[in-house]
Amino acid sequence: MKVAKTITEVRDIVKAARGGREKVGFVPTMGALHAGHVSLIRRSVEDGCFTVVSIFVNPTQFEPGEDFENYPRPLDSDLKICEDNKVDLVFAPHAGELYGKETLTWVNVEKRTAPLCGRFRPGHFRGVATVCAKLFNIVQPDAAYFGQKDAQQAVVIKKMVADLNMPLEITVCPTVREPDGLAVSSRNKYLSSQQRKEAALLYQSLEKASRLVQQGLTDAEQIIVEVQKIIEQIGSDKSIEYISIVDAETLESIEKITGRTMVALAVKIGGTRLIDNIIIDTDAK
Ligand code: AMP
Repeated sequence: MKVAKTITEVRDIVKAARGGREKVGFVPTMGALHAGHVSLIRRSVEDGCFTVVSIFVNPTQFEPGEDFENYPRPLDSDLKICEDNKVDLVFAPHAGELYGKETLTWVNVEKRTAPLCGRFRPGHFRGVATVCAKLFNIVQPDAAYFGQKDAQQAVVIKKMVADLNMPLEITVCPTVREPDGLAVSSRNKYLSSQQRKEAALLYQSLEKASRLVQQGLTDAEQIIVEVQKIIEQIGSDKSIEYISIVDAETLESIEKITGRTMVALAVKIGGTRLIDNIIIDTDAK
C-alpha cells in the first residue's frame, strides 16, 4: 500500500496503476475509520478496483462551532485498517495541499442541499461538494463509493456528478449498524454510556416507521408523530433537529408515502449530533 501526501504523487501513482488495471475505485473519508468505511473499501476491492482512500478532515464542511478541531485523527490506525483491507493507495493531504492560499471557486448544488441537514448546516454541502469535486479531479476514479448513512450527501454528490458530466459512477452502499441498530459513526464515541444506550432508539423509531408503512399507513405526518414518540423516550438531554419524510431521489417532502421514500432524522444527544435514515420502497416486492 502506498501513502501519498501530495497531489502530484497521487496523479503519478494512479496513472501508473491505470496502465495495468481496468478500474480505479475511490473512497473519500475523513478518517477515524470504522466498519462503515471498511464496507465501502471492501466493495471497491470486490469490484476489482485499484482502490484509493482519501483521509482528510475537510475544514470547509464544518460550521463554526462544530467539532473540526476535536475531530479524531488517528492516522496510524487508519493506515493499518486500509492496509488490512487491501487498499492500494491512501491520500492523506494537509489542508494547504488541497486548498492552497485562497479558494474562490465553490460547487453549490441547489435544491437538494436545502432541506434536512442543509437547514441546520447551511454551508456544509458546499464544502462537501467542493472537496469531492477536487478529490475526483485529483484521483480521477472510475467509481466512487459513499454510504447510505449520509443519504443527503450521496444524493448531492450524485447530482453534482450528473450535472457536471463528471466521468465516474457513484455507488451507494448500505448503512453499517451496531448490533443494537445504531448507525456506526466516528461521533458515537462522544456519547456517554447512558446516551449510547438510548441512541439505539433512533433506529428503532425508523424501523417503526417502516412497519407502519407495511401495515398500510401512508400519511407522512402520522408516521412522523409515531417516530417522534419513540425518540422522546430518550431521557438524556436531547434535541430533535428534524424528522422528515421525503422523496428518496429529490429529497422533497411528501405527504403520502408511495414509491421510494426516505424517513430521515437528525437528533442531538448531549452535544453529539446523530443522523440516520431508512428507505421505504412501496413498489418493491
Ligand atoms: P466520513 O468519514 O464520515 O466523511 O464518511 C466517509 C464515508 O463513509 C461516507 O460516504 C459515509 O457515508 C460513509 N459512512 C460513514 N458511516 C457509515 C456507516 N455506518 N455505514 C456505511 N457508510 C458509512
